[in-house]
Formats: sequence, C-alpha cells, structure tokens
Amino acid sequence: MNMLQQSRNQVLAQIETACAQAGREPDSVQLLAVSKTQPSAVLADMYQAGQRAFGENYLQEALEKITALKDLEIEWHFIGHVQRNKTKHLAENFAWVHGVDRLIIAERLSNQRREDQLALNICLQVNIDAQDTKDGCQPEEVTDLVRQISQLPNVRLRGLMVIPAPGNPQAFIEAKALFDRVKAQHAHPEDWDTLSMGMSADMQAAIAAGSSMVRVGTALFGARPQKD
Ligand SMILES: *Cc1c(COP(=O)(O)O)cnc(C)c1O
Repeated sequence: MNMLQQSRNQVLAQIETACAQAGREPDSVQLLAVSKTQPSAVLADMYQAGQRAFGENYLQEALEKITALKDLEIEWHFIGHVQRNKTKHLAENFAWVHGVDRLIIAERLSNQRREDQLALNICLQVNIDAQDTKDGCQPEEVTDLVRQISQLPNVRLRGLMVIPAPGNPQAFIEAKALFDRVKAQHAHPEDWDTLSMGMSADMQAAIAAGSSMVRVGTALFGARPQKD
C-alpha cells in the first residue's frame, strides 16, 4: 500500500471512529480531499486510492489541474474565497462552490452555469464566530439569503460552510443549530443536506457537532509548502 492510500485509510478510520462516538452512521460524513498546492500527479495517486471529491482554493491552480486530470471522474469543489470577477470559471468548471456569502455571487454563478450542465451545488459560508474577516455572511443574514438563493434556477443551495477559528468547538455546535433552524423552515428540507465543517486538526469535534463534510488537507497529503 502506498503512503497516500495509508493516510487516506487513516483519515477514513478517524471519521468512522468520530461517527461511532457521536452515534452517527459512518457514511453520514463525506471526505473532501483538500489538494491545494499539491501537483496533479499527487491528486492522480489519491484518485487511484479511491478518492473522488477534491477541494481547491486557488482558481488558476485549480483550472490547471482540472485540465490535466480531465479524464478522471473527479468531483471538483471550490473552497476558497469567491471573487466576483471569477464566478464564470467557477460556474463552468466545478461541481460545488462552498464559499458563497452574498446574493450577487449566487446570482452570477446561476447565470453563468451552462445550460448543458447540472445545477451547481453551493454552500452558504457563514462567519459563525464573528471573526474579523470579510469572508462569510452574518448568521442573521442566513434566512433571507436562503430564501433568495433558493429561487435561482441553476444553483442548488445544499447547506452551510464554516471555518471557525482554531480551538473553538463551540462554533461547530452553533453552526449545527443554525443549520437545523434553516432546515426546519425550509420549503424543501431534503435539499438542505450539507454542513461543510471540520479540517485536519478539528474534524472530530466537527463530526461530533454534526458535520456532513470534512475538508481535509494536511492529514491526507502531509504539510503544505509555505505558499499557504
Ligand atoms: C486549506 C483548507 C482546508 C484544509 O486544511 P487542513 O488543515 O490542511 O486539513 C480546509 N478548508 C479550507 C477552507 C481550507 O482553506
């Protein structure tokens, strides 16, 4: 077994253990492999190990890998900050965009998704722990944004994405509570099925709180070069 297979099996085992401890089904949490800064050949090896969903943060780098790996059945997720002038590339090349935090971004993604493509899956990024950052909408804005974004034809709003500050597991609990409140009021609750939270260092706490998708880089691929 090669090293990537080993680390992937280890992460899958950690997910399984965290699910068991939380009384959750092992398949209720999806593993997103965060492959930013990793070369295409490494992604291809991880694909051979069985991984299908990959998350990228930097558009230009991601587009190069999407082209290089176009023969593989990879599900591409964009998890970086979404800039308004980059939405066309995102709409055309990804299956998921996690960092949507304004109506105008969702509108552009919906308008720019091609007719021959399935609806683009998106998550609403929420600044759940009031960090001093421009990324993520405020929790109070979520209800209105969900109502507005749900009416757009070519995006499918699947749930929430959060990146709380390290060492704040309470933020995961608050994100889950917000997720559940939206679901309870949702016109089509079955479409609201994704809570994207948890990374290498805190996936256990995120799963305990109710994450349905963990975004894991370092624990799968090792430490990244400094660029990050
Ligand atoms: C880099 C990144 C991750 C993965 O972080 P690790 O600590 O390497 O697991 C997850 N989510 C986002 C948004 C990231 O930018």
